[in-house]
Amino acid sequence: MLIDAHCHLDFPDFDDDREAMFERALQAGVGHFMVPGTTRERWPAVLALGKRDDVSISLGLHPYFMNQHRVEDVEALAQALDEHPEVRVLGECGIDARFEEILDDQWTLFNAQLHLAKSRHLPVVTHCVHANDKLSQRLRQLDLPAGGLIHAFAGSPDQAWKFLDLGFVVGLGGAVTYERAQRLWRAVRSLPEDGFVLETDSPDMPLCGHQGQRNEPARIGQVCEMVAKLRGVAPEAVAVQSTATARRVFGLS
Ligand SMILES: [Zn+2]
Repeated sequence: MLIDAHCHLDFPDFDDDREAMFERALQAGVGHFMVPGTTRERWPAVLALGKRDDVSISLGLHPYFMNQHRVEDVEALAQALDEHPEVRVLGECGIDARFEEILDDQWTLFNAQLHLAKSRHLPVVTHCVHANDKLSQRLRQLDLPAGGLIHAFAGSPDQAWKFLDLGFVVGLGGAVTYERAQRLWRAVRSLPEDGFVLETDSPDMPLCGHQGQRNEPARIGQVCEMVAKLRGVAPEAVAVQSTATARRVFGLS
């Protein structure tokens, strides 16, 4: 069984065919889904999905949606975690350095969430675009007790290992299916068996051959096959390893 370790199945993109999407995923061997919260407004939809046996969730404030966050949302996040003790992961949070003009605000929000994760011993799901070095530096200073996931990792072997040394794993998704991702391919080959999980980031991050289309968890097999090919092992081995790693990182039973 495969786990999609990062997919936004609460997004409106799936409102018209959510059940059919879950069914296609199941047919493709994907049996569990990790759905991260992105904005305070969307947490109720994420919490509702989390009631399914095959869905686990996290709650957080995503840097892509800075204009929707308010100062008081961090306090609301702490409260939501109090009210929902079944939520044992914090995120999606992080830094997206493509949006330079709001970078200071992103760091303020990210730091607040990291402190919250630290005080509660929660693993963290991070979104990290063009900020691998700064982010690993920050994580090293904070020394988080429960590690977490660097989702949609797209960096170098050296950057991957810096995260692994801090108790994090990297998420491998659609990016690995593109021939141009040579540096990422080297990183994938260098990872230990227990250093990565598979993800789709659905509905985003379309796979090679599916550009311009909505992504969905049923396609994660293509990521699994590419990772297996790069590592010179059978796809079944990658499936077993990545599923075990996702269970460990997220504390799934
Ligand atoms: Zn995401």
